[in-house]
This record gives sequence, C-alpha cells and structure tokens, in this order.
Amino acid sequence: MNIQVDTHTHTNASTHAYGTLWENVKIAKEKGLKGICMTNHAPNLPDSPHLWHFDNLIGTIPEVIDGVRVFCGAEANILDSNGTLDLPENILSILDVVIASVHIPCFNPMTEEEYTKSWLSVTQNPYVTILGHTGRFRLGYDHEAVISAVRDANQCIEINNHSFVCGQKPAVHCREIALTCKKLGAKIVVSSDAHTPFAIGETEHAMQLLEEIKFPEELIMNLTLDRFSQYLKERKEHRS
Ligand SMILES: [Zn+2]
Ligand SMILES: [Zn+2]
Repeated sequence: MNIQVDTHTHTNASTHAYGTLWENVKIAKEKGLKGICMTNHAPNLPDSPHLWHFDNLIGTIPEVIDGVRVFCGAEANILDSNGTLDLPENILSILDVVIASVHIPCFNPMTEEEYTKSWLSVTQNPYVTILGHTGRFRLGYDHEAVISAVRDANQCIEINNHSFVCGQKPAVHCREIALTCKKLGAKIVVSSDAHTPFAIGETEHAMQLLEEIKFPEELIMNLTLDRFSQYLKERKEHRS
C-alpha cells in the first residue's frame, strides 16, 4: 500500500525548507507519485513567505508539471483556541487545500482542554481540509470529540510521517489517533511534510502503522489521485 499524492510538502518559499517546486516535482515523479500539495507556512511563522505567495498561486502554477498534479495550498497557523487562522478568507477560499496546524511560535496551548478546543473550532471552518500533525504536540486532546467532529465536517486527520521522528510521545499519539479514526470512520491523509526534495513521498513510518492496525484503505483520501481530486471537488461544491 502506498499513496499517490503527498498532501503536505514545503518548498524553499518557507525558508527552513530547501527545495524548489520544480525539484519537488522531479523527485515525486521519480518515486512514482501522481500528485503533490505545495503547502508552505502561512505568514505568522517567522520562516514563511509573504501573503502574496498564497494570493498569487492559483492560475500562476500549472496544474500539472511534468505529469505530476500540483495542488496549491497552505499550512495555516492556528492562532488561538477559537481556531483563528493567519490567512484571510479571500485567500483560504481560492486554495486547493488548506492544512491547519499548531506551531508553538504562533500558539502554545497550555492544557489539553485548550488544545482540544482549538481543534474543535477548526472543524467549524469550511475552508480547512486537513488537521495537520495533531499528534505531534506535547499535549494530547480529546480524540473522540475532535475526530467525530472531523468526520461530520468531511475533513481529514493528517497522519504525518515526520511526527514519528519527533520522539516517542508523538508516535504513541499518532497510533491512538489512527485507531480512533478507524473506530469512528473518519477520513485521513498520509503525508511526508517534506522540507527537502529528498523527503517527498517518504511515508514509511505512517504506512507501517496503518498496516499494523489494518486501517481501512477506503478512508485514506490520498491513496489515489482520482480519490483525492474527487474529494476536493466535492468539498468545494458543498461549500458553494
Ligand atoms: Zn507544521
Ligand atoms: Zn509542514
């Protein structure tokens, strides 16, 4: 089992990532991927590109580069427990895919209740497609409450391969989160969170976990390009 679309990748527009879009595409193709999402950090992280990076994406970047479908998006920062994001609605609404993530320089929840509340708030945002690396934070959250809200909002929980190398706790969190998604029938995506071209499509730890727990393939939205494209299309239609 392997994914055809890597849903979370950075280019050197985020300055602590090191590859160009062209290099990411080239390696994606070499590894047999059919699509990638370019999801650079939104403006409140210190390494992020200017707002214009996001404003200018659609219509500027070709949809297909060298046979690889490129989805244009952002990794938005959650700024508070009300789920406020650091991109305005007029930009969120034009992107193909929006990941919402907690990054400590932008928001540092102090309790599990606060962390849970921030995720629950994000499930109310129709522009957010994916809840990013929810298992990586030092705190846990109410998995049942958040993941059932994700399911009802037709969003995805991200199983982020990079989280597995961020210590033991994140790996344990990710396992519990994946098990809860399985139990509740919530959709997921699997991603590399690549910060270099060499990491594009690297999802070995995440896939190993999913195979171990016999995660249902039909809930992995980026398993095929067709499934992922269809999923995004349906979400967009539902919104308008
Ligand atoms: Zn992140
Ligand atoms: Zn990232």
